[in-house]
Amino acid sequence: MTATTIDQTRPVRALGLSSGGLDSILAALVLRDQGIQVRWVCFETPFFNADRTRRAADRFGIPLAVRDITPVYLDMLRNPRCGYGRNMNPCMDCHALMFRLAGEMMAAEGFDFVFSGEVLGQRPMSQTRNALRFVEKNSGLAGRILRPLSALALPETVVEAQGRVDRARLLDIRGRSRKTQIALARHYGIDEYPAPAGGCRLTDKGYADRLRDLLAHEDEPRREELDRLRYGRHLRLDARTKIVVGRTRIDNEGLEGTVDPSLDLALRVEDYPGPLTLAPADASPEMTALAGAIGAGYTKAPAGRPVAVRVEGPDGSRAITVMPLPPSEARRFII
Ligand code: SF4
Repeated sequence: MTATTIDQTRPVRALGLSSGGLDSILAALVLRDQGIQVRWVCFETPFFNADRTRRAADRFGIPLAVRDITPVYLDMLRNPRCGYGRNMNPCMDCHALMFRLAGEMMAAEGFDFVFSGEVLGQRPMSQTRNALRFVEKNSGLAGRILRPLSALALPETVVEAQGRVDRARLLDIRGRSRKTQIALARHYGIDEYPAPAGGCRLTDKGYADRLRDLLAHEDEPRREELDRLRYGRHLRLDARTKIVVGRTRIDNEGLEGTVDPSLDLALRVEDYPGPLTLAPADASPEMTALAGAIGAGYTKAPAGRPVAVRVEGPDGSRAITVMPLPPSEARRFII
């Protein structure tokens, strides 16, 4: 057998980049109908997770690999070639990166091609013909990305040309209407499916503001600092001191899970129920007192009377006394 001969008896294996949405599911089922062995990969960062894909993989029996790509994602996020969308979402570069990483997995694990549930023209920015071409070019996967739902509207891929995938059994869906997908879902007996998009925190303005501030002040943010961006109010007191104050019980529990006792101060108002406040362990005594005063301002402690705040950190636990700072005055520090 020469190097270019295709072994047509070997099963065809496809690696799908999945968001867990209906289009990802349909793309996998359309290929599976042809006898292709389908597997999914889904990438996670502090900005989006694989929960939806995990649920879909369980429901449809599609083997799934989940990979945390935070370090390489952060490198891209600081300086995306195509810039950001409305907030801090670098959608074009994000897609290109994910396809590049899926392509590396394809090569390392012997898959024949990479596929996705993208539909030509469905999203105004990321699923135009140019955007799909950009991703192919910048992922190093030219001719190796198959989009089964729109394949007939796109150039033939290598695996179709080789006869490894039957192009006649692929689809020609285009545009924003969901009619064909809904009919296809019915064909596969799918009556409930997740909403088409959502779940990426980078598209949220408040989150994007907090992330931008963190990246402007930290060259290598810790995982805990990234994880806590989704909880509470974030206030910058000075260039070295950012504090986070829980807003709800869920915030407080979430923040609790991000505390590193060697690097964080945890401040709790004594005698009054209130938020957990986090500050850096190396905050100055003045900034620590200000953090305590801001946290106390979000309790029911009476204004104008000193309250005790317990401060826990690498040097143990101590109590300080502060005058609560009303939220209206703390607002100027909010990021
Ligand atoms: S919305 Fe978020 S996860 Fe989706 S492509 Fe854009 S940056 Fe990536």
